[in-house]
Parts: sequence; structure tokens; C-alpha cells
Amino acid sequence: MAIQTPQRKPDWLKIKLPSGNELQEFKELKKTMRTKTLHTVCEEAKCPNIHECWANRTATFMILGDICTRACRFCAVNSGLPNELDLKEPERVGEAAEEMGLKHCVITSVARDDLADGGAMIFAETIKAVKKRLPFCDVEVLIPDFMGNEEALYKVLDAKPEVLNHNIETVERCSDRVRSKAKYKRSLELLQRSKSYKSKIPTKSSIMIGVGEEWNEILQTMDDLREVDCNILTIGQYLQPSKKHLSVEKFYTPEEFALLKEEGMKRGFSHVEAGPLVRSSYHAREQKEAANET
Ligand code: SF4
Ligand code: SF4
Repeated sequence: MAIQTPQRKPDWLKIKLPSGNELQEFKELKKTMRTKTLHTVCEEAKCPNIHECWANRTATFMILGDICTRACRFCAVNSGLPNELDLKEPERVGEAAEEMGLKHCVITSVARDDLADGGAMIFAETIKAVKKRLPFCDVEVLIPDFMGNEEALYKVLDAKPEVLNHNIETVERCSDRVRSKAKYKRSLELLQRSKSYKSKIPTKSSIMIGVGEEWNEILQTMDDLREVDCNILTIGQYLQPSKKHLSVEKFYTPEEFALLKEEGMKRGFSHVEAGPLVRSSYHAREQKEAANET
């Protein structure tokens, strides 16, 4: 799961600050989070959508610690040797989701290539813990590639998430440069495998643009994702977290994002969320509802 924070930006990337009830509600939810020693991507990535998402009862939890065994060049998560597994984490996420009154709960993690199952068991337990407390809350998992481990993927799917999300992140040509330990084809295979194993669970993926890709390559990536029957697509602008990260090659305009959305819908995705500030879980509830209608 990428964590990005903004650098110098064009006007369309400026964020509208909340006020009134939205601000009050946000402060209360934030207080809840502090008592649980949990990480939300919403806060840690300083996600520009946090007020809107939390007001809509959508949040993204990051499980399996905050140290990643990979070091993708666009991502601000710390990399290194992760801490020991916290077996009580699933219950704490369940409690926090309940206290926040979530309607759509996204669970993601760092890559844990040090674990035999890549952390799949904790993913599965977390899905169950949220569902036990909030039977009507949709649970979406945004998973790493588990190094291609099929059993790990099936373990997560057996816990019955409402959406299986895995980010392809970028076009094939840029993949090695942007996320050297991942593989473009492995990500496609994971999405395909998910569909073969549990055809009713919608799949989802995300592309961040602005890292040096060509327009036609973005369209090709959409085609590749449709080829494996991926249902939901999100496309957002890459923002450089710090000077040592990959620099932004291009800021796409809102009009270009609108065109990409059109291209995606033409290709048969059930929902495409595309915009400068769009992140993988932005409007996640609406995305899932659109996938269920098709
Ligand atoms: Fe970030 Fe890459 Fe680790 Fe995901 S796998 S948390 S994108 S460094
Ligand atoms: Fe959190 Fe995702 Fe919404 Fe950002 S877009 S605030 S990470 S749920």
C-alpha cells in the first residue's frame, strides 16, 4: 500500500478544509483511533480525503506493522526488518471499526515477505473480527502479492471479503523501476486467480500516474486488467513524498483524468474512480455498490 504526501502542486491539487459538523465528527473519530494503537493509512499518508471518507464512515487500516520488507521508490512507508507479529491486532481493528461505526472498512498492509504466508492469516482474522462486530460493514482488502503464494491468497478469500483489491500501481514498462520487488505479471495473475477461486468477489486495482508512463501505456494497463476480469479501477496522481523518492514526471489535469475515466468505462469496468486526489479507497463504498449492480 503506497503512502504518498504532497510536494509543490498545481491548483487542482489544493485541498478544501472541513468545517462544522464534518470537522467535529472527524476530531471524535481521531480520538477513538488514538486509544487503539492502530495505524490508518488515512492519517499516516495525510490523505487529502480523510474528512470526507471518515464522515462517510470509510477508513483504511494498515495491519502487520509499519515496516515493509520492500522499498518501492514512490512509497513513504519505512522499510527494513519488521517487528514481531501482533496476534491481537485483528481484534483491535474490529473494535476500532465498531467504535467508528464504519460502513466500509478497508484493510491493507505492508509487504511481509519475511513471513511464510505473507501475513495472510492475520488478514483473514482481521476480516472475521470486523464482520463479527459489524455484520453489515463491507470489508475490502488491499493485499500485497504474497510473492505469488496461491494458498495465502485463498486463505484471505476464504474469509469472504466484499472486495479483493490488489494494486498494479503502474504500467508494465515502469514497473521494475517503480517497485522493483513486485512484478507486473504476478499482480495480474493474482487478480485472475482470485476470480477463478471466488468468482463472486469483485476485484479491484489501482494505477498511479505521473511517474513517466505514456498515455497509450495507461490504456494498455486498463486492457490488461480487463483481460483478467478486474471489475473496479482507481487512477490517481502520483505525488512525491520526499526529495529522495521518485520525482513526478507529469501532473495530469482534471480533464485528462475525466478522459481516462471514460476510457475505463468503455472497456467494461463496473466502476472507475479517476482524479488528481483519488486514492485506492476513495469512494470505496460507491465503487463496491457499482460492482454489485453489474
Ligand atoms: Fe510501500 Fe511497496 Fe511496501 Fe507497499 S510494498 S508498503 S508500496 S514499499
Ligand atoms: Fe483513508 Fe482511503 Fe479515504 Fe484516504 S481515500 S482517507 S486512505 S479511506
